[in-house]
Amino acid sequence: MITGKGQTVCGGIASGKVFVCRRAERGIIAASQGADEELKRYHNARGQVRDRLEILRRKTAEEAGEAQAQIIEVQQLMLEDQDLIDGTEGRIREGRSAAEAVLQCAQETADEFRAMEDEYFRARAADILDVSEQLAEALGAGQKVPELTHPSVIFAEDLAPSETLAFPRNLILGIVIRGGSSTSHTAILARMLNIPAIVQADFEMQQIRDGQEAVVDGTKGIFYLDPDAETFYQMEELRNKEQSDQEALETYRGVPSRTRAGRKISLYANIGSAEDAQAAVMADAEGIGLMRSEFLYIGRSSCPSEEELYEAYCKVIGIMGGRKVIIRTMDIGSDKQASYFAGDPEENPALGYRGIRFYQKHAQAFESQMRAIIRAAATGPVGVMFPMITQESEVRHLRQECERIHKELQAENLPAGSFEFGIMIETPAAALITEQLAKEVDFFSVGTNDLTQYTLAIDRQNAELSGQFDPHHPALLQLLSLIAQNARKEGIWAGICGELAADTALTEKFLDWGYEELSVSPASVLKLRKVICNLD
Ligand code: PEP
Ligand code: MG
Repeated sequence: MITGKGQTVCGGIASGKVFVCRRAERGIIAASQGADEELKRYHNARGQVRDRLEILRRKTAEEAGEAQAQIIEVQQLMLEDQDLIDGTEGRIREGRSAAEAVLQCAQETADEFRAMEDEYFRARAADILDVSEQLAEALGAGQKVPELTHPSVIFAEDLAPSETLAFPRNLILGIVIRGGSSTSHTAILARMLNIPAIVQADFEMQQIRDGQEAVVDGTKGIFYLDPDAETFYQMEELRNKEQSDQEALETYRGVPSRTRAGRKISLYANIGSAEDAQAAVMADAEGIGLMRSEFLYIGRSSCPSEEELYEAYCKVIGIMGGRKVIIRTMDIGSDKQASYFAGDPEENPALGYRGIRFYQKHAQAFESQMRAIIRAAATGPVGVMFPMITQESEVRHLRQECERIHKELQAENLPAGSFEFGIMIETPAAALITEQLAKEVDFFSVGTNDLTQYTLAIDRQNAELSGQFDPHHPALLQLLSLIAQNARKEGIWAGICGELAADTALTEKFLDWGYEELSVSPASVLKLRKVICNLD
């Protein structure tokens, strides 16, 4: 038995036969037939890839939703990138064949991307190489990925998003890749498709062969090849336990989230896209406590229009069918970047232009997001909250802006709904002045991920410091208690939408302090309701 480890991307247990995703040897790259002929072949190949990508984009949008289809849109953009086209044409004119020029130019550009500091751009190197492979294939020099024909655990050096999407979903049991990062598109896809997956796994491609038995424990980030009977049995037990725990939770479906003594809590779900709202309904969430609206902006080539945003919000509101939807205005910056907004590199982006600070530089984007939200608010109950608040003046300014936009929409005879006006408490500064802030807003929602990061001065992204990233630190608990106390004093409600909301070791404390809402991932809703219902 071989045991290996990696970084977990999506939890759960998968077992089955290994499918080694080894690319075929590259076809022979023929010598140039002359620049004119090679240029013609290059542009024909681009046409074929363009058509193929458009078909794949539509298929993805239909089967997996618009958010996933945006991954293909990034590749469509790469195909039309003028620098890449000029670079490739230049090499062809210097005497290289079309395939040679495509591969060389893509490799050099991908290397430049890989050297960038920003993780988002580094991850895009894979997209550039993916498009160049598709072009090489159209030119008869591809390194094809084999076809997946039976349910398998996929082991690969790396997987391009288009390759992952091309595999039939029902045949992918688990994914283990040597490369990748948790923000690579393949990782994002695995998470959205709920496939147990590990990236940066420690194995050599020569170690594994097709048809070998494999078990992936996505939760712990461990995989086993040729598991011995005991490991296999333990994993089966674990899977059965996960399944029966899940079934037992079904008794809490449709039940109010209320303690035995009658204290009621709103149990909401966190989502990133309109598609996730379906998962929230299936999970029996009583509303959406955090819609991370920046995911509508990330992984695409241009800023979404007001209409696109309006449709996305209306879709979520429609799916939630009368249950409240709290939209967090875009929290772009730091680890969440959109290429078309890229500004000067920042020394310390987590302390730079992110959350509401970003709107100072991108006023138009903020304006169209608020217009879309206020219009959508006319179709159902909505709350809006703003990320990264540190002072009262910011809140007053945001409220004035919302009032102005509301009036303008009315003057244009467009529907303009009312909404609850809230803020995220995720900086120690905001937490410490909650008494004053509570006079300005309808609710607080605590972002414990950032509140922990900024209180303990530990980068939430730094894997090596994760052992010290302790949201149970007494400083955090004091701030959490203070926030709820000040909310109650001023007669507004407070909730928690950071990961800590799902920490059942603290549920009783949260209720005692006076939190009235907890918003967690859809998968945690019933688990948390069970805990609430069994409290006094
Ligand atoms: C948080 O900081 O806890 C939060 C909910 O926001 P995000 O994780 O998106 O920064
Ligand atoms: Mg945050």
